[in-house]
Amino acid sequence: MSSFCVIGSGISGATIANLLSKKHSIDLYDKAKGLGGRSSFKRLDKKKGFDHGTQYFSPKSMEFKKFTKKLLEKKVLKIWTGDHKFLSKKKKENKKHIKIIGKQGNNDISRYLLKNIRCNFQCELKKINFSNKKWNLTFNDRKVKTYENLILTCPFPQLKKLSKKYIKNSFIKEKIRMDANITVLLEIKKTNLNVSSFLFNDKILGWAGCENSKKRFKSKTDLWTLQSTFNWANKKINQNRALKKTNTKILVDKFFQLIGIKRTKILFSLNHGWKYSSNSKPLKLKSYWNSRLNLGVCADWFNGPRLESGWISANDLYKKINR
Ligand SMILES: Cc1cc2nc3c(=O)[nH]c(=O)nc-3n(C[C@H](O)[C@H](O)[C@H](O)COP(=O)(O)OP(=O)(O)OC[C@H]3O[C@@H](n4cnc5c(N)ncnc54)[C@H](O)[C@@H]3O)c2cc1C
Repeated sequence: MSSFCVIGSGISGATIANLLSKKHSIDLYDKAKGLGGRSSFKRLDKKKGFDHGTQYFSPKSMEFKKFTKKLLEKKVLKIWTGDHKFLSKKKKENKKHIKIIGKQGNNDISRYLLKNIRCNFQCELKKINFSNKKWNLTFNDRKVKTYENLILTCPFPQLKKLSKKYIKNSFIKEKIRMDANITVLLEIKKTNLNVSSFLFNDKILGWAGCENSKKRFKSKTDLWTLQSTFNWANKKINQNRALKKTNTKILVDKFFQLIGIKRTKILFSLNHGWKYSSNSKPLKLKSYWNSRLNLGVCADWFNGPRLESGWISANDLYKKINR
């Protein structure tokens, strides 16, 4: 049994940790407070919460369809029904695509896969060093931990910063651009709008999802997750911390304008800037494994912009490790 350190509790980290745990000893670390990565769920209180990143997924590959079918049967996942308004003129709606979400939150897959794994949160990996066939890993508390194997699942720019000294494969030199996204979690007074989501045709606001329509809780208020377009966020993201109020106002004003209802009282709002939300161009490689260094990388950005891409990458890495 060899020791593996997995960095990241998103779909990629959770999937690879779960697969490896059948034969190896695993410790997982994440710099965030909770699990799920870009599929995290922000809880306001017992009865209210928002899917912060991933809004839903529609499985495409046979393998991922099989995996999600099992989790639908186990009631870890469910189908998001209701009136989904597709207003985009650039993209074509595929009516066959079902919208799958977590029963409690969209980090439910990570929670399910990691239930028997040692997870350490608020632990940011700062430096990696390979010597005498061991990885010495320095975390934000300056403590150094030693493992035989290291698996990284960070967004590409963060991965490059941490590991470019060790990864010589050509993918590390590629210009993988990850678009930004600015998300606003919004609580407003109850409206009589009976819509589950809007995919807008707008330059600023891309999407709005109604959390109440996911039927996870009964709230007396309306909860909406607003997500900007990539183009707008790419221009605004570096200043978003300083201009949170302004950017929130722009997105909220747009929301009321586009849905065409009278502005109601805002009870809560939270702006979260995702610097690296997703990449649009998939690579030729699905994951990376170096058996001399015992260093692996799996992440969504190998295969494209979705949660499913991270799951596929993790399964591919598992096959490479076992070859
Ligand atoms: C706003 C937004 C909306 C989206 N909408 C959808 C959608 O509707 N459908 C869909 O399928 N996909 C969507 N996606 C994409 C989807 O969220 C990602 O494809 C998927 O979550 C990526 O999973 P991952 O495990 O590869 O990476 P991540 O989820 O990013 O996991 C990486 C983890 O590593 C941790 N980490 C990074 N560096 C370190 C470090 N140095 N030390 C410790 N921990 C570290 C991070 O905290 C993070 O938890 C969306 C993404 C965003 C941001």
